[in-house]
Amino acid sequence: MPALDDFQLSVEEAAAVGKALETEKPWDWKSEDQNELQALKSAKDKILAYHLARHGGNCCYCRLNLNGAGPYMTDREHILPKGKPVYKPFSYAIWNLAAACKRCNMQFKRSGDGFVLDADDSTKFQDSNNYRFVHPNFDAYSEHLIRLEAQVDTKNIVVFVKKAGSEKAIYTHDFFALHELQVDSFDKAQGLEGETPETDLAAKVRRLAKQFDQ
Ligand SMILES: [Zn+2]
Repeated sequence: MPALDDFQLSVEEAAAVGKALETEKPWDWKSEDQNELQALKSAKDKILAYHLARHGGNCCYCRLNLNGAGPYMTDREHILPKGKPVYKPFSYAIWNLAAACKRCNMQFKRSGDGFVLDADDSTKFQDSNNYRFVHPNFDAYSEHLIRLEAQVDTKNIVVFVKKAGSEKAIYTHDFFALHELQVDSFDKAQGLEGETPETDLAAKVRRLAKQFDQ
């Protein structure tokens, strides 16, 4: 997993970001200079690729696999929303960006900031404790939540395990309605008799869920 400190923009990209930050809407700013416009697009592409890599190609909130999913399913996500004036200076801060699925970003995260404890003191914005949910960059997801999943053709099993004692696990699970994503369409009864590779796979997921859930 690439470290936060490893992220680097080219000189041109950094200059374009610097100019964008001086504008009213830094993230949506469109330069009339083609080179600058291109440099900003390149910076945004780099940010997305970097954050996808940090989470193995999965959504930072629900762990949906986004490998190959493309722009209709994947969003560059501003953790502190870019619309509020106090957060604007962090529109391009690498620690404030992540890659999320459309569902998490558009349906649940949106532009609110109820997940921030102190939304006024910017010295706390880089502190994990200032966030009610599992922060994509300051927290290790698997210390709070684990998504277990198997799919064979049209059959799926998806289980979320909340780590005992983690308040962030409970908050994140509720905030993104992760229970909606849980499913088990493998035939459990069949799994008890003859072990087909499919039911065996589902049984493995159920076993792991039990194992982690303590
Ligand atoms: Zn998601």
